[in-house]
Amino acid sequence: MMITPVHRFRDIERKPEYLQPDKCVPPPRYSSSGTMWFIRDGCGIACAVITWLLVFYADFVVILVMLLPSRDYIYSVINGIVFNTLAFLALASHLRAMLTDPGAVPKGNATKEFIESLQLKPGQVVYKCPKCCSIKPDRAHHCSVCKRCIRKMDHHCPWVNNCVGENNQKYFVLFTMYIALISLHALIMVGFHFLYCLEEDWTKCSSFSPPTTVILLILLCFEALLFLIFTSVMFGTQVHSICTDETGIEQLKKEERRWAKKTKWMNMKAVFGHPFSIVWLSPFATPDQGKADPYQYVV
Ligand SMILES: [Zn+2]
Ligand SMILES: [Zn+2]
Repeated sequence: MMITPVHRFRDIERKPEYLQPDKCVPPPRYSSSGTMWFIRDGCGIACAVITWLLVFYADFVVILVMLLPSRDYIYSVINGIVFNTLAFLALASHLRAMLTDPGAVPKGNATKEFIESLQLKPGQVVYKCPKCCSIKPDRAHHCSVCKRCIRKMDHHCPWVNNCVGENNQKYFVLFTMYIALISLHALIMVGFHFLYCLEEDWTKCSSFSPPTTVILLILLCFEALLFLIFTSVMFGTQVHSICTDETGIEQLKKEERRWAKKTKWMNMKAVFGHPFSIVWLSPFATPDQGKADPYQYVV
């Protein structure tokens, strides 16, 4: 579902609506900024839980089937530390991608007062989202799962149960990268372990019976191969769309470019933060992006 997000974009986008500010109720007094962002979508929650279970399964096989029975202590310790660090970073990135507001536009802000406060020049067009009654900043799109307009929405990803947008794209890219890395690492270890079992005795190379060992290793092999392909393709398309500063939706719709062209490096910094440093790889560091004024409208 992550790589074919087409079906999410049925809503009418970029069509000038009559603003009808009278029909919009002002946003409720209590603000949602203090509460945690979490999408209550059954399919998304199930996919997010499956993601965690798959990582735990891989960790279980890596530690109990391959590393603990190994006689090479150094090999086990180094691979155990590397695999668990990458798995921890993958799950941390997943949590941050899921629980970060992707850039939701305040609901119901299409009020008379707000439209007046924008001080629009004559002839300037603003777009109102008919579903969430908000004034759409340029490059924002309505997501039918989140039921909100999301700034620079790329796609809605059920695996992280959230939209990928302006504010959480860094965590999503890190998530795909760390999953690709643990998949590759697991595949290499499975290869070595098969060789080790063939050389040694199948009854000695694992604490499980030989048939159980083979089944557990083959399942891990399939899982790792599948997710290595999925996440590395996703990682590549995400980095490409960041470098060209064109979201997945804009590429699909072949939208004409209304925003200024910047260098690839500047586009990367806009997502991962200024300046370039090791914290680009950390899901715990919130990137400080010099964000452009979201209410820049096409004349
Ligand atoms: Zn909307
Ligand atoms: Zn969404």
